[in-house]
Amino acid sequence: MTTIAMTGSASGIGAATREILEAGGSEVIGIDLRGAEIVADLSTPEGREKAISETLERTDGNLDGLVTAAGIGPPNNPHKMLSVNCFGTLTLLEGLREALATSGGVAKVVAISSNSTTTVPDIPAELVAMCLAGDEQGALDLLDGYGEAAQNYAYAGGKTAVARFVRRNAPTEPWAGSGIRLNAIAPGATLTPLLQAGLDSDDFGPMIKSFPVPTGGFGTPHQVAAWIAHMMSDDADFLCGSVIFVDGGTDALVRPDSWPDTYEMQ
Ligand code: NAD
Repeated sequence: MTTIAMTGSASGIGAATREILEAGGSEVIGIDLRGAEIVADLSTPEGREKAISETLERTDGNLDGLVTAAGIGPPNNPHKMLSVNCFGTLTLLEGLREALATSGGVAKVVAISSNSTTTVPDIPAELVAMCLAGDEQGALDLLDGYGEAAQNYAYAGGKTAVARFVRRNAPTEPWAGSGIRLNAIAPGATLTPLLQAGLDSDDFGPMIKSFPVPTGGFGTPHQVAAWIAHMMSDDADFLCGSVIFVDGGTDALVRPDSWPDTYEMQ
């Protein structure tokens, strides 16, 4: 039986993924604010430390997989959004890497990013760089200078840092070279409590409703979870460092020619 740790397991995309993985015979150790095997608040360093140490205790330091689904969206405090979505994710990826490397088989990791990474314009590069440098206070201080854009930048900037962490680290010795397949999924608008909170808000509701989804309507948690479950399966052993967009075509519509990008010799 494979043992998989999962943040954000109690609701939405995480809960739907948990259902599929458990039906397939995996043991899932949920990490969430409530309704999980490990109750921890990933917005704080103490909560992240608790999540990591309790996961290691429960698994004797051997983990077959990790899904990082915990997250909050706008409207929310920008600091909290960046702390949960970005630092709550990156800290767990780094803190559980060794346990994944000693799993014995090919361990799988799926980090949940977002198509906001490519569809929100003008995400500040300095914010993403600060996140990737692991400077949480520096990143939070930057947010204070973005005025009304702080919420959008906190969400999309944090999700961009998560995707870029995956791209940078997945093919390296400590990850691919240690038997870990690290990938990300970038969902589009998916009808979960997180999206519903945005739809219900006067500030973000009209924007979300006007966002184009070529396939029509919002995705369901199951439509995203089924992809994550596949990325966690042995059939995905050749997948490494990919950011998979499952978004009804929004990313392709907004920037059809931006990806794949050509490569130039220096
Ligand atoms: P959701 O609200 O249904 O689930 C999120 C889960 O994260 C909840 O169980 C919540 O309790 C948990 N969580 C929130 N803050 C936490 C904290 N401080 N510590 C521990 N757990 C915490 O939302 P969802 O839409 O299923 O979101 C899952 C992931 O997918 C998130 O990372 C989100 O950013 C991402 N995402 C969602 C959409 C969408 O449209 N729903 C689109 C792109 C990406």
